[in-house]
Amino acid sequence: MTAGVPTLLLLLAGAGTPRGLPHEREAVVGLAAGSGRPTSPAAPAPRYQPEDTVESVVSPGERFRIHFTRQGPHAVPAADADGSGVPDFVERVASTYERVATFYAGLGFRLPPDDTNPTGDDGGDGRFDVYLVDFARIGDGAFRQETCLDGVTRCTGFMLQENDFAGYGYPSDAEAVDTLASHEFFHAVQAAYRPGLGSIASEGTAVWATERFEPALDDLEGFTRGYMLTPDSTLALDPAGPGVAFSYGAGLFFQFLGERYGDGVLLALLEESVRQPEARWPVLLDTCLRRDFASSFDAAFALFATWNLGTGPRATTGFGYARGEGYAPVTTTSVGLPHAQERVRVAAAASRLFEVPGGASFVGASFEPEPGTDPAALHLVLAAVTDTAVLRVVTADGPDALRAQVAAGGATRVVVAVVDGRMEGLGRYGRLCIAATGQAASCAPLEAQDAGTVDAGRPVDPIDDPRTPADDGGCQAAGGPLAGALVALLLGGCLRARRRSRAR
Ligand SMILES: [Zn+2]
Repeated sequence: MTAGVPTLLLLLAGAGTPRGLPHEREAVVGLAAGSGRPTSPAAPAPRYQPEDTVESVVSPGERFRIHFTRQGPHAVPAADADGSGVPDFVERVASTYERVATFYAGLGFRLPPDDTNPTGDDGGDGRFDVYLVDFARIGDGAFRQETCLDGVTRCTGFMLQENDFAGYGYPSDAEAVDTLASHEFFHAVQAAYRPGLGSIASEGTAVWATERFEPALDDLEGFTRGYMLTPDSTLALDPAGPGVAFSYGAGLFFQFLGERYGDGVLLALLEESVRQPEARWPVLLDTCLRRDFASSFDAAFALFATWNLGTGPRATTGFGYARGEGYAPVTTTSVGLPHAQERVRVAAAASRLFEVPGGASFVGASFEPEPGTDPAALHLVLAAVTDTAVLRVVTADGPDALRAQVAAGGATRVVVAVVDGRMEGLGRYGRLCIAATGQAASCAPLEAQDAGTVDAGRPVDPIDDPRTPADDGGCQAAGGPLAGALVALLLGGCLRARRRSRAR
């Protein structure tokens, strides 16, 4: 695999970021045989020209060596306001990588191993090497993996980073360097555990890491559209071709994980990748969520899908993401009321989202998997919304009847999401029904059960809270032979109470 392919694809996908400017990253690439570091004439582009004098400096904390030239197309900006003899741009890169490494180490992550290589090019010593080169606007940074200490894990590598960001449109060199250093160096952190988790996990967690390093950076915000345009695409398989924007957009899922379960879940994921070197990332995550967080991939994914209903203009204080107003709104399909649709397909780790008019006293929905279909890990989420807020959310969880209803008074729209929280598997089909109070449909709201069970209060967080396992049991025991609507209503009430004690 060459370095150029993913960057070109990302350039196509980069349109539509907040600044409408290049915002793409190069995927992690291994070194092909015969290639090398950009000081070698055999290295893949970008590489220094043979006549360039390549200098290097050691960062203030002595963990990094920054390589640069003052000549030709790869020249760094020459300004040296402090008269140190080293260009200020290079000093900024050096200090930023130190800050990033200190930050990740502070969260508990491994840092890359020493890359001392007596028989090859190690950049001069065992420090982590950053080469400032001109990407000519087809990318802005790349981590290149080299050797792995045991052949599979604890891998070393080096970094390429854009030499001057001229024409890239970042608001400042500081923001550009913060973004690149935090993203690319997190790929080096990943490699210090186990590389090869796939593009969704590697890019998604790197986008999360940048946001965690500095929330004011807008990398995550810009990439969310890559996920929110197609929430019906599975998170469980890496996309191919132009779909690579989806992998960066998947940063939103890891942002959700970090906000919901804490940084420890990201740390546990990488640590588990070493313990289970053959396992796919959803399996690793499920292992961690079950073992350490009293949750599961299924429960987490269902809640993620719910949080995604309150982003962009519908970001609502107290519901979902802390900074959801900066994220793209999720794409839905508008249909009328009542709505019946046969063979609605939902993929593993994906959602199908429909939107109907609000205004009726209640809107009900049901999803009936085709006969013979395993109904596990299916969820039906109904959200009463306005253009600017999520008002109420009700969830019905399988495997019992997937049926729920939500009070729609005061809502301009009701969003109905069929969510599949499996980690793998073929798509499943079912019959979707959505209807409002008084309409003749099998899923029409059950008026007799409405009074007093759903109020117009705060939006709720309809999935179990790992910090209150005793409550979860109580709520989930509310199921039974009654329609799923009742289950959902009870769940809603129970979780509404729990939500008040939730810390953010
Ligand atoms: Zn990346």
